[in-house]
Amino acid sequence: MSQLEPTPRTTLKRGKDRGSYELADIHGILDDGLACQLAFIHNGSPHIIPTAYGRVGSTVYVHGAAANRALRALCNGETACLSVTHIDGLVLARSAFHHSMNYRSVVLYGPMREVTEHCEWQAGLRAIIEHMMPGRWDDVRSPNEQESKRTMVLALEIDEGSAKVRTGPPVDDEEDYALGCWAGVIPTTTHFATPIDDPRLAAGIEVPHYVTHYPRAKRQNGAAR
Ligand SMILES: Cc1cc2nc3c(=O)[nH]c(=O)nc-3n(C[C@H](O)[C@H](O)[C@H](O)COP(=O)(O)OP(=O)(O)OC[C@H]3O[C@@H](n4cnc5c(N)ncnc54)[C@H](O)[C@@H]3O)c2cc1C
Repeated sequence: MSQLEPTPRTTLKRGKDRGSYELADIHGILDDGLACQLAFIHNGSPHIIPTAYGRVGSTVYVHGAAANRALRALCNGETACLSVTHIDGLVLARSAFHHSMNYRSVVLYGPMREVTEHCEWQAGLRAIIEHMMPGRWDDVRSPNEQESKRTMVLALEIDEGSAKVRTGPPVDDEEDYALGCWAGVIPTTTHFATPIDDPRLAAGIEVPHYVTHYPRAKRQNGAAR
């Protein structure tokens, strides 16, 4: 399967030329993100949780405190909605109406599943840590029994969803191109500053290579990886 099947709720109606159901696009946008927004209904009220995540194949993992009742309620079979957005540029048009942003976004739907099997639980947690900082998992202490009991890992299968991407200059009304105001795109970049040692770092520990060579550091958003 190279693309998701559109469903009634994922069929793009507005700006559908910007939409994609290709798994390569969806995975790429997910992999470039750091945090997602996880939305769900709990006790009749909408909730949204910004949270870290990681992907293994066609599964997205998030984690939280086992005591988190809202997260636990997510595992009762109700549909959740998970979204990741990148802002790649500010699109300044000649009219207020046509101002926009260049972006890449993904919206996924589906029931969340609590991961109870230990190997998958560990793989999910590893994916979340490695998503943030590749190379980190093998460098740090693994969760102990207490920490494992206190940490819930949830999985969402990438079965239903869509991506949407805007690129390029503003699209103005033809008669507005003669106006005297500046128009164009301000590209955005993601910048990670120089790492700061923990004040309690033991003497003689260098910043690891995977940190100094962090692949996300200083790059133009949306540029080819
Ligand atoms: C950073 C950013 C800024 C934006 N600013 C604006 C704005 O100011 N005004 C505006 O109208 N729109 C904006 N959009 C686009 C917005 O996300 C919607 O796509 C658009 O408003 C159409 O909404 P709709 O409910 O009519 O879409 P529909 O086409 O009816 O949506 C149907 C389905 O398509 C999918 N879908 C819709 N939008 C997206 C998306 N962005 N990413 C992935 N899947 C999607 C979802 O599954 C949704 O249920 C912005 C998007 C981003 C990422």
